[in-house]
Amino acid sequence: MEKKLIYMDNAATTPVKPEVLDAMLPYFTEKFGNPSSIYSISSENKKAITDAREVIAKTINTTPENIYFTAGGSESDNWALKATADAYASKGKHIITTKIEHHAILHTCEYLETKGFEITYLDVDENGLVKLDELTAAIRPDTILISVMFANNEIGTIEPIAEIGKIAHEHGVLFHTDAVQAYTQVPIDVEAMNIDMMSTSGHKINGPKGIGFLYIRKGVKIKSFIHGGAQERHRRAGTENVTGIIGLAKAAEIATANMKERTAEEIKVRDHLIERIEKEIPYAKLNGDRVKRLPNNVNFSFQFVEGESMLILLDSKGICASSGSACTSGSLDPSHVLLAIGLPHEIAHGSLRLTISDQITMEDADYVVDNLKEIVNHLREMSPLYEDFIKKNK
Ligand SMILES: *Cc1c(COP(=O)(O)O)cnc(C)c1O
Repeated sequence: MEKKLIYMDNAATTPVKPEVLDAMLPYFTEKFGNPSSIYSISSENKKAITDAREVIAKTINTTPENIYFTAGGSESDNWALKATADAYASKGKHIITTKIEHHAILHTCEYLETKGFEITYLDVDENGLVKLDELTAAIRPDTILISVMFANNEIGTIEPIAEIGKIAHEHGVLFHTDAVQAYTQVPIDVEAMNIDMMSTSGHKINGPKGIGFLYIRKGVKIKSFIHGGAQERHRRAGTENVTGIIGLAKAAEIATANMKERTAEEIKVRDHLIERIEKEIPYAKLNGDRVKRLPNNVNFSFQFVEGESMLILLDSKGICASSGSACTSGSLDPSHVLLAIGLPHEIAHGSLRLTISDQITMEDADYVVDNLKEIVNHLREMSPLYEDFIKKNK
């Protein structure tokens, strides 16, 4: 049998869709002008950026002047937090976030702590959900910002964003959300959800790497993060990443237009994976919320198994997956997200994340479970802990 390649690590990155690449290509070569110049190849670029901004604004129910192109999710998160801290420090120096944020948020918060800001890191429940009463209780007169991710990149839990936005605004506090994983996977309406700032990234939605946008609601005072030219209405200097912007808009347009049908199909495959793993592999625990869950996320902990060993054996079968988050693999610390939902270290170490796409068929899912079953069995057979456990439970 021909060896398959099954990519189930779409939360780490995604391939650029052919239509997206086709839209980008002319802007590398014949339409290469600097959007700030005045000759016609440049005004064509300028127009293309204007159109891209309009396309993107529509996907989250806002207007184009609130969309600021950045170099991706990490820059958007850094900008939102650091610039808010800077602009609102006279009002207060307290920020609320959660223990399960991406490192682009957590490490930025740690940096802000060194600058005299106080950060409250909210606990989450065993499914990864923020507790709204604890959030409300954490708000103080000097709280300037609440930053809670829309959906978690490891366990796929979707947070109650509209409720959090409502609480933030009732208390006169700005609300930022890292929507890198949620964007085009779940409907987002920044108006209805009271979102003031929102981070996204192109390469998580079948667009190119190194591009994303930060949505900033009109009236939010934050200033430029990159100083220089007057691009992005004086708020983000640097010659526009024209090809990236075109690619991001094309990817966003496609993924928004087919969101309903695509995610319905993904959910079928996701639930098939979950059902088969739960039924056929003992001592396996699903991480994250069963219902409030990204359509493409499956995350399990397997007792008596080491995550990295699973990944290597899966890779030998042509299956790309991840344990914990891609950014932390390579380190021996278990994922901060899995610890925050209460998993003991040794269980967190045996975790596997499968993040699917519309390219994954039911047959692919079956191939993965068939192999995973064998791999988990094989690794357990070599585990002294498992041997002890079986003896004791005979
Ligand atoms: C991938 C990711 C980021 C970082 O985005 P980049 O574009 O790679 O910088 C931030 N937050 C979350 C939740 C992510 O999944």
